Amino acid sequence: MSNIVVAKFGGTSVADSAAMNNSANVVLSNPEVKVVVLSASAGVTNLLVALAEGCNPDLRTEKIEQIRHIQYQILNTLPDSEVVREEIDRMLENITTLSEAASLATSAALTDELVSHGELMSTLLFVELLRSRNVNAEWFDVRNIMKTNDRFGKAEPDVQTLCALSEQHLQPRLANALVITQGFIGSESRGRTTTLGRGGSDYTAALLGEALNAKRVDIWTDVPGIYTTDPRVVPNAKRIDEIGFEEAAEMATFGAKILHPATLIPAVRRDIPVFVGSSKDVSAGGTLVCNKTSQPPLFRALALRRKQTLLTLHSLNMLHARGFLAEIFNILASHNISVDLITTSEVSIALTLDTAGSSTCGTSLLTSALLTELSALCRVEVEENLALVALIGNELAKARGVGKEVFGVLEPFNIRMISYGASSHNLCLLVPGEDAEHVVKTLHHNLFE
Ligand code: ADP
Ligand code: ASP
Ligand code: MG
Repeated sequence: MSNIVVAKFGGTSVADSAAMNNSANVVLSNPEVKVVVLSASAGVTNLLVALAEGCNPDLRTEKIEQIRHIQYQILNTLPDSEVVREEIDRMLENITTLSEAASLATSAALTDELVSHGELMSTLLFVELLRSRNVNAEWFDVRNIMKTNDRFGKAEPDVQTLCALSEQHLQPRLANALVITQGFIGSESRGRTTTLGRGGSDYTAALLGEALNAKRVDIWTDVPGIYTTDPRVVPNAKRIDEIGFEEAAEMATFGAKILHPATLIPAVRRDIPVFVGSSKDVSAGGTLVCNKTSQPPLFRALALRRKQTLLTLHSLNMLHARGFLAEIFNILASHNISVDLITTSEVSIALTLDTAGSSTCGTSLLTSALLTELSALCRVEVEENLALVALIGNELAKARGVGKEVFGVLEPFNIRMISYGASSHNLCLLVPGEDAEHVVKTLHHNLFE
């Protein structure tokens, strides 16, 4: 293991000049930080995604001006900004050209190329800000080493290639300079830009941590750590000081936005602790996600994932049949859909799909082509706007009384589906979208307050 710390700053931590200066203070306070991974300034990725979906000329101009405004506000506080202003202007020109193309025909590859400009711009500005503070900072294009497949919008990195290229191109720079690079983006074999899915900068930081064999990955965001649930939903949520990889990974998978779902995979592979804290208030401390935790509690946290779709498939052919489920799953796999929860009965199967997923291209995966294929096999019912509430904990499936503690207080709600027992780390409930926050508040009150 090296002494390197990889530090990642999310959108709000690079939103404006004050936030960027706070983040710079965080970086400079720890000489072990050698690589800094940045998201786009808050709001920029959403604007770019909207442009990539195709806009009329007026709306296009309005959105590009909004992006220009966000970046210029930072730029205008920098002392020697001429060179970087030219670069930002060039990026804005690219954005204009690509947005015009998107208004004629959208494509996933074009979307990724367009949205990558958010991270490209925030890193350029941050390098300049550090240089104005006499830091030897170097801008590094992560696409040179973050090689991925060509699943635009949610590309998967090739870890072996990343490790090899990082050793060749990134590692040697760390002796002399502080490297500033982009989260979220990568490139496929033909060199075209890809993205790792919304919120993917956390994943980038962990992947670089793995490639550099870092001693820790620090995720700096707008809350001082991981809480028992989203503090925006439950202001009474409590900070978790230390949490195991598995529990935190379950939280991320089931929608705790604080970490991109894949973040902990590289961290687990190399046993790299991940710290989560607030760039606005370092003294508030944070959460350490690591291998060992003392006495993990029965109930750890609640996570919420919105926009879930429930597919119920009915067929009498399922009765005593073999291979029916395999056929269904083959169809889903061929449409790139991953299934979350499943319940089965004799003649029907219910599955939940995260149809929007976290892909950068916001189109739903539940296409008419998929429904047509499934309908050839069985009767298909689709229910949308559901939410998945996951209770994360330890030994949940073995403990007594879990059912009573959980369901006892949920009497006023319609629980559409339950998944319990497959993992001793979670109990999942599917509820109507409009009830979701109420369910989380009720459960949190009963289990954590
Ligand atoms: P960043 O831009 O820094 O990546 P995100 O918005 O992606 O930040 O993630 C931070 C947000 O995650 C917090 O503001 C909070 O609302 C939300 N969040 C969801 N679940 C949790 C949780 N269990 N603990 C803390 N924050 C959470
Ligand atoms: N900027 C990207 C997003 O908004 C990636 C990230 O913030 O992690 O999804
Ligand atoms: Mg995030």
